[in-house]
Amino acid sequence: MTRKLYYEDSYADRVSTEVISCEPYGDGKFAVILKETVFFPEGGGQPGDTGHIGDARVVDTQESGDEVLHITEAPLKAGDKVDAVIDFTRRLRLMQNHGGEHIVSGIVNRRYGLNNVGFHMGSEDITIDYDGFLDRDALRTVEYEANLAVIKNMRITATYPSDEELLTLHYRSKKVLTGKIRIVTVEGFDVCACCAPHLSHTGEIGIIKILDSVKYKGGVRVHLQCGLDALDDYNAKYEAVRSIATRLSSPQGKVDAAVLHLEEEFAACRARCARLRDELLALKVESIEPTDGNLCLFEPDLGTDELMRFAIAAAEKCGGICAAFSGEDMNYRYCMVSRTRDLRSMSRDINALICGKGGGSAEMIRGTAACDRDTFADCIRKI
Ligand SMILES: [Zn+2]
Repeated sequence: MTRKLYYEDSYADRVSTEVISCEPYGDGKFAVILKETVFFPEGGGQPGDTGHIGDARVVDTQESGDEVLHITEAPLKAGDKVDAVIDFTRRLRLMQNHGGEHIVSGIVNRRYGLNNVGFHMGSEDITIDYDGFLDRDALRTVEYEANLAVIKNMRITATYPSDEELLTLHYRSKKVLTGKIRIVTVEGFDVCACCAPHLSHTGEIGIIKILDSVKYKGGVRVHLQCGLDALDDYNAKYEAVRSIATRLSSPQGKVDAAVLHLEEEFAACRARCARLRDELLALKVESIEPTDGNLCLFEPDLGTDELMRFAIAAAEKCGGICAAFSGEDMNYRYCMVSRTRDLRSMSRDINALICGKGGGSAEMIRGTAACDRDTFADCIRKI
């Protein structure tokens, strides 16, 4: 069985060792077993380590029974001496996030009696699902206390208590475990069964930031980032706020008020624009020469309701069918209104002439037409 050095020293990032075996793992990958390893296999919500064994890139690490499988992109030879090196910055970020999760879940459990029932460390952030709801104020309280745990730089230890000791020990995650139980303790804040490597002091976790929370399966899903990931997230959001603030000539802390003001201005502008368009269309209708026959009107960019109002108003100027259409070549909307002809009975023929789809009542039909402008005008002449 492989010696698991990540349990002896969670800061060990490399080992010179020997390849025990290498088997195809599907999809052009290989599963390599080493005599000793610093690669932690996926478990307890934490992804498997990545890195290199010799020149072969390790894209994942998985557990199979008692063995640790290093999933590589190239084969290695059994018996070869190799240097195995993990991507330690990635591992450090995972340990920061995982440690932050323990502290937050410990506080949530102690303060509110809720349990962590789902934990996922993704590429964007980590999520924790609790079996009860916590509002934003409660989460702010938890976040503050969690950061105090960081500032106090408490020790984090991993131990294997005896069965007798476990009987009297109060710890989280009791249900999911079988066999020898590894207990990770954040002094003064959390005791939890966990199989992952951890940092030695809470100060190394850095800031613990609760980002978002949503109601989830009768409880709450909390999004969290810690340490370097939280710093990256802060920088990305800071740049976004800085850019918005500059464009709106607003202090950064007041961008929400500036955006609200912009939204109000935009709504007022839209209302004024709609009013002016209505006035313009009314003037256009007024300028139409009355006719006993059909009318064919085109306006390039009318909305569906505007087109209908325009056609209804213009229909007063004609004795036949008033056909209004809007849009671009081969992609028109139309509205036809008549007080003298039964449009419903004509709609099939009209649609055939203009490659259209649509229908309506005897007085009005509406739809779309995939023809050009001349075809539309010809159609109105023919009907
Ligand atoms: Zn854990």
